[in-house]
Amino acid sequence: PFIVIEGIDGAGTTTQSTLLHDYFQAQGQPALLTNEPSTGAIGTLIRKMIAMRRDEDARPVDRETLALLFAADRLDHLKAEVEPALAAGQVVISDRYYHSSFAYQGDSVAGSDALDLRWIRTLNERARTPDLTVFLHAPVDLCLERLGERDAHDVFETREHLTLMEQRYDQIMALLQAEGEHIIRLDASLPRQTLAEMIREKVAR
Ligand code: C5P
Ligand code: MG
Repeated sequence: PFIVIEGIDGAGTTTQSTLLHDYFQAQGQPALLTNEPSTGAIGTLIRKMIAMRRDEDARPVDRETLALLFAADRLDHLKAEVEPALAAGQVVISDRYYHSSFAYQGDSVAGSDALDLRWIRTLNERARTPDLTVFLHAPVDLCLERLGERDAHDVFETREHLTLMEQRYDQIMALLQAEGEHIIRLDASLPRQTLAEMIREKVAR
């Protein structure tokens, strides 16, 4: 199975992906823990571009170009890592997937949203549908608090931006769910072990 963990920055996607991976390993079930942007050539380029956002003197990264790169990285990542692992009988857990692109690379201007999302979805048509996506739905205040505890700070990690991203995730998850994608929504403010147990329970089912 291919499992995706999604949510805004500070929601705990990395923590929960790691805990789920630990669980599979403890069960003796081979599992691959991976994330986006990937560690491949395109993913590495994307990380560099994202880091450049912190540099005020650097030329801002174009949003549409980033959407193209993320879609390219996703296919590269699928072909090079995810698909082979699934074929070998491993469970694959991905910290972020196309839902992140739908939220982050989408237009922030209401009204032009629908068209934009349609374009980004077209770019991602070849990316396989996850068997299960866990959406960690998080109060923005909590995420800000958690992000404040980390040293590196991104200009995108502001209350305004996180609130917008959470709204976009909310809409996107509802849309995909209505189309039949298997998505569960869990409260990211729960204690991490409680949340981990809830995820394991859903995964088992
Ligand atoms: O998950 P992680 O903390 O590594 O994500 C780093 C940053 O990458 C996020 O803060 C987000 O701004 C950005 N990102 C993005 N588009 C994606 C995935 C991540 O802009 N599709
Ligand atoms: Mg993370």
